[in-house]
Amino acid sequence: MAFDDECDYLFKAVLIGDSAVGKSNLLSRFSRDEFHLDSKPTIGVEFAYRNIKVGEKLIKAQIWDTAGQERFRAITSSYYRGALGALLVYDITRRATFNNLRKWIDELREFGDSDLVIVLVGNKSDLGQKREVAEEEGRELAEREGLCFMETSALENLNVEEAFLQMINQIHEITRKKLL
Ligand code: GDP
Repeated sequence: MAFDDECDYLFKAVLIGDSAVGKSNLLSRFSRDEFHLDSKPTIGVEFAYRNIKVGEKLIKAQIWDTAGQERFRAITSSYYRGALGALLVYDITRRATFNNLRKWIDELREFGDSDLVIVLVGNKSDLGQKREVAEEEGRELAEREGLCFMETSALENLNVEEAFLQMINQIHEITRKKLL
């Protein structure tokens, strides 16, 4: 966490999960309210900022996106370093992306902060007819692992704001207690 003149505090959060689950589109929805049908990620880490008012505080969230690096298993500990929150994303229409969550959770626990706030996100909820993972399965995994959970659609802009805000509010709560 850092402080700057424009906001009360700034923190880093990361997006993680398999390739093509919708991470970039969730971020562009949240930071710029845009959606891209054919996102072709450039290789390298990218991030976006958004200022959010939580209570009396102005928080600047710096959210990092893998920008395609997860395809090559090239995510390193520096990606997670200093992050206070993570949106762990899978695609409800591709079971493999749900099965791989174990690997991502272990990695987050290994490299992330001990207080890391993790929100599990089942994206593409607009594609209900192609669903391979029941909402209940996501919820149960989240409960077992002590994570928050939400299904989203970056395409239809459903629950995107809510998923990020759930993470940000929790980070704010933890940070506030630490500063007391
Ligand atoms: P990333 O590799 O995890 O960053 O995934 P992208 O954001 O690049 O999205 C991968 C593909 O899924 C793109 O073709 C997107 O248009 C599509 N996509 C992303 N989010 C959604 C969604 O909520 N619904 C639908 N139907 N498609 C989505």
